[in-house]
Amino acid sequence: MLPENLSQLVSDTYATAAANGHVQFTESATNKFKDPKTGIQYVVSYAPSLLKKPERADQEAKASNPFEKPEPELTVSTDITGDGEYKLLLNKFPVVPEHVLLVTNEYKQQTSPLSPKDLITAYSLLDKLDDEDEDVRHMAFYNCGPSSGSSLDHKHLQLLKLPQKFTPFQDRLCNGRDFFLPDVQNEPLQDNKVAFSHFVVPLPEESSKVDEDTLAMVYAGLLQRALTFFQNWTDEKPRLSVGYNFMMTKRWVCMVPRSAARSDEQNIGFNATGYVGLVLVKYEETLKNITENPHLIDEVLLECGFPNTAGQKPTEYHY
Ligand code: AMP
Ligand code: AMP
Repeated sequence: MLPENLSQLVSDTYATAAANGHVQFTESATNKFKDPKTGIQYVVSYAPSLLKKPERADQEAKASNPFEKPEPELTVSTDITGDGEYKLLLNKFPVVPEHVLLVTNEYKQQTSPLSPKDLITAYSLLDKLDDEDEDVRHMAFYNCGPSSGSSLDHKHLQLLKLPQKFTPFQDRLCNGRDFFLPDVQNEPLQDNKVAFSHFVVPLPEESSKVDEDTLAMVYAGLLQRALTFFQNWTDEKPRLSVGYNFMMTKRWVCMVPRSAARSDEQNIGFNATGYVGLVLVKYEETLKNITENPHLIDEVLLECGFPNTAGQKPTEYHY
């Protein structure tokens, strides 16, 4: 059971932590772009000051785990579900206010699959934090494996408020579609205008129809498809390790298999947020290139993912 006053609890903890410097909020300039070829809407946040934030390698060198004994000021709850399984923390380095992390209390690897309990807890958090009347929507996401853009190895999901009036392309894909379980007959949805592979399933509109088993079966169906890429590509790229992003809003879930965390050529990296159209840029040169050609984002997302398989049965891209 989540606390009744969850939104208030997050807001109050954030306001105090931001005021006393425990949360280091990064201001960013946002630019909206529309890719003329795919129709995808991108919100690009330009935050050059993030270049000063510790990188994955620095954190590994320190070999510290900030989730083991988190700063009390960043802790919304040490036991958010009331059964000792998870804590809810504020992201210490947010670009969006009130960005929270759902962290397992017991140490688990970020490479492990999501459990049914992880999934229903994330869904329940979305259900509590969203406010449809006020157009407040959140996305939960899981960056799994080093190529997914994750930076910490202790298992954590994240929840982020979506920008207002922002339509992720997954919304468009699910418009007018009912919930289904992905199986041999029913392929997850994929937008054939988009270059990169992504698997989307609409969720039931009523939250009472979404339970642990439903989410677990959907997740398993998507994971099975994502994993086939790593079987297919191992000859060509033998050192490719399993990596994917999993995203969930109250309307849909999506999985994107990943081949790389970043493009060195374009100096840009992506986690799950990039694959719904929320792009974080740290270099001026990258912003200039995107401004000149917004379709570049689709190309770089493909470079860090795998080619779209719309219209193919899993047996056709199966090993
Ligand atoms: P990821 O990069 O997807 O693995 O997510 C880890 C998140 O934890 C990042 O967004 C970091 O900004 C955030 N983070 C890093 N150090 C801390 C910390 N000490 N306390 C809370 N959040 C942190
Ligand atoms: P990074 O330095 O790439 O790990 O990301 C910096 C911080 O911003 C971390 O707290 C990320 O979780 C978060 N973040 C990354 N991409 C986005 C995005 N597009 N919108 C909002 N926050 C993001």
